[in-house]
Amino acid sequence: MAKNPAVVLAPNVWRIPLVGDFVNGFMLRDDDGQVTLIDMGVKQSGAKVMAALAAIGSGPSDVTRLMLTHAHPDHAGGAAHVAEQTGRDFGIHEADAGFASAGASPPRDHTLRLGRLMDRMGGGGFAPLTVGETFTDGQVVPFAGGIEVVHTPGHSPGHAAYLHRASGVLITGDSIFNVRGLRWPIKAFCTNFAMTTRTAHRLSELEYTTAAFTHGPHLSEQPRDQIRRFLASHPTVD
Ligand SMILES: [Zn+2]
Repeated sequence: MAKNPAVVLAPNVWRIPLVGDFVNGFMLRDDDGQVTLIDMGVKQSGAKVMAALAAIGSGPSDVTRLMLTHAHPDHAGGAAHVAEQTGRDFGIHEADAGFASAGASPPRDHTLRLGRLMDRMGGGGFAPLTVGETFTDGQVVPFAGGIEVVHTPGHSPGHAAYLHRASGVLITGDSIFNVRGLRWPIKAFCTNFAMTTRTAHRLSELEYTTAAFTHGPHLSEQPRDQIRRFLASHPTVD
C-alpha cells in the first residue's frame, strides 16, 4: 500500500503520504541537517512519520521543530508519538493552541445539523500535546530561509497555511482539499465553513510553485492559477 514513504516536493522538502495521498505530513530539512515536521496524520501515522524521516537519512535527534496546521485528529493524531520519539514540543497558531494541549477538536459548525450532531456525539480527540510555541499571522518561523504563517481561520479558529518561500512550496492545510480535484473541506468538520471559503482567498495572493495539500496529492503545474480558477468557480459562502 504505502509505496514511497517520502515524496520530493522541492530540494529538501518532502510530502509524507500517511493514509495514501489522502492524508499528508511534510518534512523540511535545513542545510545544517535540522528537520522540521509539519502535521502527523492520524493516530497510526506517527510511526510512518518516523519511517519517512529515516528514509531521507535523518534521525529523531535531527528534528528540531514540530508544527501543526491545526488541531484536528487527522493532523495531530500521530503527534504524541512523534513528540515522544523526538523530544520536541509543538508550534501551532495561537487560536488552536488550547485545543492542541487539551487533545480536543475545536467546535464544529453549529449552523449545520451534522456539525451540531457531531459535537453532541463527542469524539474527535487525540492525545494531548505540549505546545512550546504559538504563532500569529504573518510570523516567519526562522527555519530554512523562513516559513511564513498564513492564518486562514474557519476550518478551525487557528488554522494556518505555511509558505516556504525558499522552495516555493505552500502547505495549504485544510483550506482547500485536492481529493479527486480541488474542493472545499468537509463542511461539518469546519468550525465556521463560511469563513473558510473567505479566508481561502489568501492562498490565491501568495507566491508559490507547488501547492501541497494536507488532503490529496500536491500540484506543481501553475498551482496558483488552478487555485484561482477553483475560487472563481466556487464563490464564498456568506
Ligand atoms: Zn481539519
